[in-house]
Amino acid sequence: MTQGLFDLRDCDANGRIGHFTVPRSNVVVETPALLPVINPKLQTISPSTLASKFGAQILITNSYIIHQDDHLHAESLEKGLHEFLDFPGAIMTDSGSFQLAEYGNVDVTTSEIIHFQNAIGSDIATPLDIPTPPDAPLETAQLDLETTFERLELSKSLVDGDMLISAPIQGSTHLDLREQAAKHAYALGFDVFPIGAAVPLLTQYRFKDVVDIIMATKRGLGFDAIVHLFGAGHPMMFALAVAAGCDLFDSAAYALYARRGSYLTTQGTKQLVDLDHFPCYCPVCSAYTPSELQNLSKLECESLLAEHNLYVSFGELKRIKVAIKEGNLLELVELRSASHPAMLDGCRALFQYSAQLERQDPSVKGTFFHISDLSPLRPEIVRHHNHLSRINIGTNVLLTTDIVPPFSTSNYSEILYVKPPFGPFPYSLSHTYPLTAEIPFNTDSISLKQAAVGISTIVSLHPETAFTFAHNNWPQTILETLSDDVKFINLSS
Ligand SMILES: [Zn+2]
Repeated sequence: MTQGLFDLRDCDANGRIGHFTVPRSNVVVETPALLPVINPKLQTISPSTLASKFGAQILITNSYIIHQDDHLHAESLEKGLHEFLDFPGAIMTDSGSFQLAEYGNVDVTTSEIIHFQNAIGSDIATPLDIPTPPDAPLETAQLDLETTFERLELSKSLVDGDMLISAPIQGSTHLDLREQAAKHAYALGFDVFPIGAAVPLLTQYRFKDVVDIIMATKRGLGFDAIVHLFGAGHPMMFALAVAAGCDLFDSAAYALYARRGSYLTTQGTKQLVDLDHFPCYCPVCSAYTPSELQNLSKLECESLLAEHNLYVSFGELKRIKVAIKEGNLLELVELRSASHPAMLDGCRALFQYSAQLERQDPSVKGTFFHISDLSPLRPEIVRHHNHLSRINIGTNVLLTTDIVPPFSTSNYSEILYVKPPFGPFPYSLSHTYPLTAEIPFNTDSISLKQAAVGISTIVSLHPETAFTFAHNNWPQTILETLSDDVKFINLSS
């Protein structure tokens, strides 16, 4: 890893705001960042407009398409990529791996495409890796990975200037392979780590698998590694992917969806022909009604739809940055989980990694808002349970869901308040984060289960202590999960 490329500014869960210094063009990109995909043969929105109108600091284009076209090849070599595309920010180039995955072969070698990317002035080059599709046999994924490693090492040896080289992480849906690939690439000193071959999973809405792969990749990388989710362009899943630890996204979706009359929202995709009103206040949606847009020429309509799609995508990234700053990124993820059942699967998968998320999650934030069934699974609960070992208690402890139980408590050596979903803690801590949590009046069973995990944790830490749990009509099924040695008092009876 090149030292000092990534400067962390804020973080929440695995999401972070950072400053990514791109040395070759001396541009600082604020992450999480969206790289609009520029097709050098068909520009729906020009790169200069992307910079001036949408604030794009970085984009991605395909060096293989440029390499294979005689005219584009010559012009990009003559002018250099930045003048050729007329873009003042950083430019990342892809290598043709996508074409390799789509068509089975490409007419270029690793050396040729790396030298070409360097010659045209790319800021971040990509080697010609082997994208292994999801669900490939383990042996195939391993063999592909060996070839990718050989090409990564070759690429690293070919260039010694200030062009960064990304190291695509492959491994299909084999999570151990993804983690090993990430460890290997990180040890080789690469700069940017795109998660490869995710497009089939994204297009099939397999967001759980996407989360599993991101989390496996993150386990293999150092904290300063910049992670790019290749092919992720739908704003619906940006919050989820950022919370899992992705810093960069590339979007061809804004243009591809516009071409077929599709209108992106953070809650999913809509068809222009189905809309009577625009659920958006961007300049396009403020100036036109859906029917007015449809009455324009096909090209005008496509261009304006693409603009809306970009406004929504960049807008979602701004919202995500605000959420990271305020410490409520996971609450935004919970909101987005309602966009589609597959998004709920993806968000549930992420919350299963609370212990992994907890390692980077700040210990103090604003108020913890319990807003969905996912809230009790957040990293703050895991951390609270981990910290229960710090509580000193006596030999005879009362655990109570009522702050002032309706009986004498003088016989107890210690009284711990039990608040779902956290579980037990001394009442004196109730004004500290996250125990100041705002929780719904009606407690759900997941919160009770999580609180019971906290009770079980403290009971197992103190085998010599007698515990009595005074609860407010908790279900028997949850009480049965606690040790037989715990005595119960039902405060509601
Ligand atoms: Zn709009």
